[in-house]
Amino acid sequence: MKNVSILLLPGDGIGPEAIAELKRVIDWFGAHTDLSFDITEDDIGGAAYERYGTPLADSTLDTAKKVDAIVMGAVGGPQWDNVERHLRPEAGLLTLRKELDLFANLRPATCRAALASASSLKEDLVSGLDIMILRELTAGVYFGEPRGIDTAADGRRRGLDTQVYFEDEIERLLRVGFELAAKRNRKVHSVEKANVMESGVFWREIATRVGKDYADVELEHMYADNCAMQLVRAPKQFDVIATDNLFGDILSDCAAMLTGSLGMLPSASLGVEQNGKRAALYEPVHGSAPDIAGKGLANPLATILSFAMCLRYSFDRQSDADLLEKAVDQVLAKNIRTTDIAADGVKPVSTSEMGSALLEALDDISS
Ligand code: NAD
Repeated sequence: MKNVSILLLPGDGIGPEAIAELKRVIDWFGAHTDLSFDITEDDIGGAAYERYGTPLADSTLDTAKKVDAIVMGAVGGPQWDNVERHLRPEAGLLTLRKELDLFANLRPATCRAALASASSLKEDLVSGLDIMILRELTAGVYFGEPRGIDTAADGRRRGLDTQVYFEDEIERLLRVGFELAAKRNRKVHSVEKANVMESGVFWREIATRVGKDYADVELEHMYADNCAMQLVRAPKQFDVIATDNLFGDILSDCAAMLTGSLGMLPSASLGVEQNGKRAALYEPVHGSAPDIAGKGLANPLATILSFAMCLRYSFDRQSDADLLEKAVDQVLAKNIRTTDIAADGVKPVSTSEMGSALLEALDDISS
């Protein structure tokens, strides 16, 4: 028996609806595998603001630091638009990421066979697609100093941001990239703009050095603009794309569209490994979808697929993660779809019906 602890943070909007279905999936794995789950549930975002007066209470953060993994729903909603910036729902998530030093953001772009026709690209370009965008999340131009809007010495106003990366920040991100690739298709594309940016020259130098420690993984350097082009020209050439915060932000959104729907996209954010344990937050890419919240219309699969990533990366349960992903594929292949991914002429199912169908598929595959 392996005991693992999880903090569930349903959050706002459709977050609680998706996490409710995830809880059924976790129960299934508790009953059918040798994993036993120690689950704590707490609030984040707007829900935490209402309960604690802050979007991330200290006590919640303490728990987050102790557990093996965190799974979040989503945060945000129009009812908190006029709250002070540091008390807004998103501030809770940003604090959590910062406090746990979650520097490595993993966003898989996997085209599930049954949804290949939903992609904006031709089916043969994306069917079978399985790439991992690895984005540096805690440094780079979004955080670099100096930044601001001021007036220069010659009296002209200017807006200023600074792209800055320390060697250790690049190195730890790339090591995650090589380790991921070693368990996948053994290829890392290190993406920067070394042709026009000093930080890009530096990034390339570090990537080359770190790459020498991973002889069984092929390293290719690519300029970010070319990478954007290649992602829509021939996305299947990629395995792991490792890149900085800004380029990763853009390229991961671009790759997301190759796969069809926002309701299907999981993500993981990993921290530094200490004493054999790595802080980890798993969450869907989508937001709290206030337009459909409370109506039973939300697709819970992005949240559930985030848990598959949790099984794989935090609990080292490759076969359980594969099983869960296979169950998702089986449900989709049967044309069981929520509204966002509904097939023509087929009546969409509700959030909880999707959860039930998934449990049936898990039973079916494992029997
Ligand atoms: P969103 O992702 O919430 O929704 C965009 C569109 O996609 C909406 O039409 C929504 O109904 C649909 N959609 C999203 N997820 C879906 C799902 N699982 N099933 C079915 N349909 C789904 O983005 P938004 O509307 O720009 O933002 C809404 C709120 O979410 C804002 O407050 C924003 O700040 C917040 N947000 C939070 C996160 C996060 O928690 N990580 C990320 C993005 C946005």
